[in-house]
Amino acid sequence: MFSMLRHAKKMLMDILFPRNCHLCLRLLDKEAAAFDGFLCSDCVKKMAKTQVLRQSFSAFKIPVCDAVYACYVYDGPVKELIHKYKYGNRPYLVKSIVALMADVLKEAQDAFLKETDCLVPVPLHPVRFREREFNQSELLADRLSQTLQKPVVRALNRTKNTPSQVSLSKRNRLDNMKGAFSSKTPSAVEGKNVLLIDDVVTTAATALEASRVLKDAGARCVRVLAFAKG
Ligand SMILES: [Zn+2]
Repeated sequence: MFSMLRHAKKMLMDILFPRNCHLCLRLLDKEAAAFDGFLCSDCVKKMAKTQVLRQSFSAFKIPVCDAVYACYVYDGPVKELIHKYKYGNRPYLVKSIVALMADVLKEAQDAFLKETDCLVPVPLHPVRFREREFNQSELLADRLSQTLQKPVVRALNRTKNTPSQVSLSKRNRLDNMKGAFSSKTPSAVEGKNVLLIDDVVTTAATALEASRVLKDAGARCVRVLAFAKG
């Protein structure tokens, strides 16, 4: 009886408020056309998965950080989805992002999920947080925590409001990030295998600086997991 009512309510809501794909605006009127309640399956098909999860660590081995993983290539509908999520004030799109990540993660045979003790989101400076009203990496970590069955530890503070990285060279990006983070709860990461969560990695300057601080705080292993690689 309740499921019938729920079904009827859903049908009514769909008629009153038809859902459209957030990317191409096509009507999500048929189950087959929808990836979920926010994206159509055609847009999702155009998203390029990276091969990073299937590569060995050594390809991405960098001294302060043990590995960098990204699930999709930051281009086309992936780029658009991130922009709508971050700058278009649509925090609920995190559901789609994590569902897309789960698609890639389940294909990865690596034991790295088993070897992860906790997820640490890259923090946002309070000034940026006030502007955006949410931290995209924190929402991502909270949602991934349910999928991966790992706890979230908010182990870092953002101590410097770094200017936008977009116009900077790789070297300047690393300099720009120096001193951007401090450790909030060193005891929570000491001796732990940490999975650092960010939405996009490009030069990985942000992730590397955050990893360095986590390592200084005593983390045994720090690996980065991002939705997309720029
Ligand atoms: Zn679409």
